[in-house]
Amino acid sequence: METNARVVVIGGGVTGCAILYHLASMGWRDVVLLERKELTSGSSWHAAGGLFALTSPSNAAVLQKYTIELYPKLEAESGQNCGLHPAGGIHIARTTDQVTALKLLHSRGKRNGIASDFISIEEARSMAPILETRGVQAVLYEPLKGYCDPASVTQAFAKAARDRGAKIYRQTPVIETRQLPSGEWDVVTPQGTIRTQFVVNAAGLWAREVGALAGARLPLLPVEHHYLVTETIAEIAALDHEIPNISEPSGGYYARQEGKGLLLGAYEKTCVHWAESGTPLDFGHELLPDDLGRIEANIARAVETLPCLETAGIKRIINGPMIFSPDLGPLLGPYPGLRNYFCAAGVMSGFNQGGGVGKILAEWIIEGEPSLDVSFWDVARFGDWADRRYTRERTKYFYEHRTDIVYPFQEFAAGRPMRTYPIHDRLAARGAVFGLNFGSEYPLWFAPKGVEAEDRYSYERGNWFEATGAECRALRDGVGLLEISTFAKYQITGEGAAAGLEQLLANRIPSVAGKTVLSPMLSPSGRLVGDFTVTKLADDRFLLLGSGPMQAVHMRWFEQNLGSDVQVENLTTRYCGLHIAGPSSRQLLQSLTDVDVETFPFLSGREIAVGPCPAAIVVRVSFTGELGFEIYMPAEYQRSIYEEIVAHGEALGLAHVGSRALLSMRIEKAFPSWGSDLTQDYSPFEPGLGRFVRLDKNDFIGKTAMQRLAETQPKERFASFLVDSADRDCFGGEAIYRDGELAGYVTSGSFGHRLGKSLALGYVRTPYFEDGASFEVEVLGERRPARLSERAPYDPDGLRMRG
Ligand SMILES: Cc1cc2nc3c(=O)[nH]c(=O)nc-3n(C[C@H](O)[C@H](O)[C@H](O)COP(=O)(O)OP(=O)(O)OC[C@H]3O[C@@H](n4cnc5c(N)ncnc54)[C@H](O)[C@@H]3O)c2cc1C
Repeated sequence: METNARVVVIGGGVTGCAILYHLASMGWRDVVLLERKELTSGSSWHAAGGLFALTSPSNAAVLQKYTIELYPKLEAESGQNCGLHPAGGIHIARTTDQVTALKLLHSRGKRNGIASDFISIEEARSMAPILETRGVQAVLYEPLKGYCDPASVTQAFAKAARDRGAKIYRQTPVIETRQLPSGEWDVVTPQGTIRTQFVVNAAGLWAREVGALAGARLPLLPVEHHYLVTETIAEIAALDHEIPNISEPSGGYYARQEGKGLLLGAYEKTCVHWAESGTPLDFGHELLPDDLGRIEANIARAVETLPCLETAGIKRIINGPMIFSPDLGPLLGPYPGLRNYFCAAGVMSGFNQGGGVGKILAEWIIEGEPSLDVSFWDVARFGDWADRRYTRERTKYFYEHRTDIVYPFQEFAAGRPMRTYPIHDRLAARGAVFGLNFGSEYPLWFAPKGVEAEDRYSYERGNWFEATGAECRALRDGVGLLEISTFAKYQITGEGAAAGLEQLLANRIPSVAGKTVLSPMLSPSGRLVGDFTVTKLADDRFLLLGSGPMQAVHMRWFEQNLGSDVQVENLTTRYCGLHIAGPSSRQLLQSLTDVDVETFPFLSGREIAVGPCPAAIVVRVSFTGELGFEIYMPAEYQRSIYEEIVAHGEALGLAHVGSRALLSMRIEKAFPSWGSDLTQDYSPFEPGLGRFVRLDKNDFIGKTAMQRLAETQPKERFASFLVDSADRDCFGGEAIYRDGELAGYVTSGSFGHRLGKSLALGYVRTPYFEDGASFEVEVLGERRPARLSERAPYDPDGLRMRG
């Protein structure tokens, strides 16, 4: 065995082999995979091998499409048959909401060129005569669906990787991973030690144990999963073609042909965790005792659509473990705090995702960043708050509801509440309905007296619509209070703070204390990594405000890119935030401080006494589009400052305002938001942030790429759309058309309560971009007329927020 390698991949399931293959394909030869037993010895050997591309979020669909389309090429390259059955697949809808769910799936697929078509019930029956179609309202056909042979796919990745020079060692368990002062790793096995630059944890069912060897705590838990295979079914045996895979939103099952019978998989109604306190080290090519009783309800549901199941004999029942993260998505990328330690764990659908995961990981290791935004799968989307209890409750909930419709704005109660800010109970007493942001509760909206303080989800406007509208209007006409503690807050200090930030961020850092700027943070290739409000508090002290859910990702980036003369402290849980906004907010702030707030210009920030707090940081920025002040204080002062704001605000008609109102207001202002409108898929030029990039300043990360990009037109441009829709709104992912041609896609949408109009933000390909031009937006599957507006629909000159 080698003693040195550039990358050691731990785990020879489909994920590890796909990563090895992609590393080798990208030209790295000295890469090694270590497998404890035989290849596929975890979940991979007993998977059902089902394939599908249409899913959310959008880039997950891109990666699944990539994976499925890779297989024929992999077969050709490796000479290893992958047991591919490109049978296609049908999604069946029996209720109005299920029909809408399919329309959205269809509409969203268009952005990534994933074909799907609504077919007639007769067509569906001719593809799958075993279907009971009574009560079926719609059928969506997805050609990319099908299935593969899991072991053969894994072996094909392994063979092709070996052919390109990669090495695989079986029966070689990793028993220790040690980081050396040089940053290299020693990967220890009974057969010897390999010194390597990069380690990849692709240990599937054992990713927790392998992670622990390096001090990485991964929020993962295995669950049991059943499928059964029937004996021959006469109707299927009589066909001269394969039936397509079959699934239904809310069905709780998936079905496909296996031989001349069916394979039926079930997401049990009661999730059973397995090996909670650790996966046994001697577990190999084994199954768990099956229990048909646990999937009876799923079978009964499937029988309604596939009556032949009622009488079919059962040939085989599989109950195997698979391992999940709290949201069931993979945990990918560099583990925060461990240099060059990459994770590719919790890959829940390895045969759909493995190829894409392999590609992303290889790019991340070799090029320093993946070619697509995968923050929704980044290992850093969870923090320490994602503990065993949370992981248990979330995996249970999402497993049991795996095929349920997820409605716009839906929040999930499982595992909550965990972290609350000091005024949580005060806000709850005012009718707050809470959501979850990086483990912390924050108010979404406030139910007025007599209105139930609970979300009711549907595709129509939510039960919070009226209350949210009232919040927006009250803020516009007077003053509103928003709890903004979940915004990420970082204190940057030290001798090298100013120079470090200048090199880290694309905008010029304020030279004078008290000034605030907005700045993108870029990768070397010029893609957005973050977007911050930067306030200079002193020569060697800055406050950065950014996206809450991205805080561990951003801390990782700061650690990688700032020198030892710069200290970064994440203040997000230690400091709270309250935002007062609206024309009376200045008067309200004045009642809380002796400092003359008339002299507090837009885009400035200072540390001043506010109420009982001697040193609160007040920043004058506005995401609502109105005059506004964000006040940040040590957590112990939030309650007392809040009480004073409420006491003084009463006379000014102070309204409590939630984040759904903020969404409506920022869309009226065409302010893009991180996660929906801003992601790592864009440079600053597409979303119109080019004005915050200073190409005339000294070197900064991404400058060379920006100089190059500045010479060409961006491929897409960000715009507002005024949508002619009286009863429903966009919420993201909808297709946009111009003259009948697909022109772009929506990234966020809402009713604009101050304007009284349905609005959307999105990207259109540059040739289609024209101010005032007519478009169509596919709202819940129906095209509605829309007009593109280059300027913000609300207060386009920004007079109100600068007032
Ligand atoms: C019943 C069932 C049906 C499924 N059906 C589908 C499906 O239809 N479609 C689909 O896409 N997915 C399906 N899956 C999920 C799929 O099986 C997994 O997503 C996939 O197998 C995960 O692969 P992996 O490589 O990440 O992990 P694993 O397959 O668990 O592989 C991890 C490997 O790491 C090795 N390892 C662990 N510790 C060490 C160590 N210390 N040193 C060296 N090696 C180590 C293990 O021996 C193992 O070989 C199904 C799963 C189950 C249980």
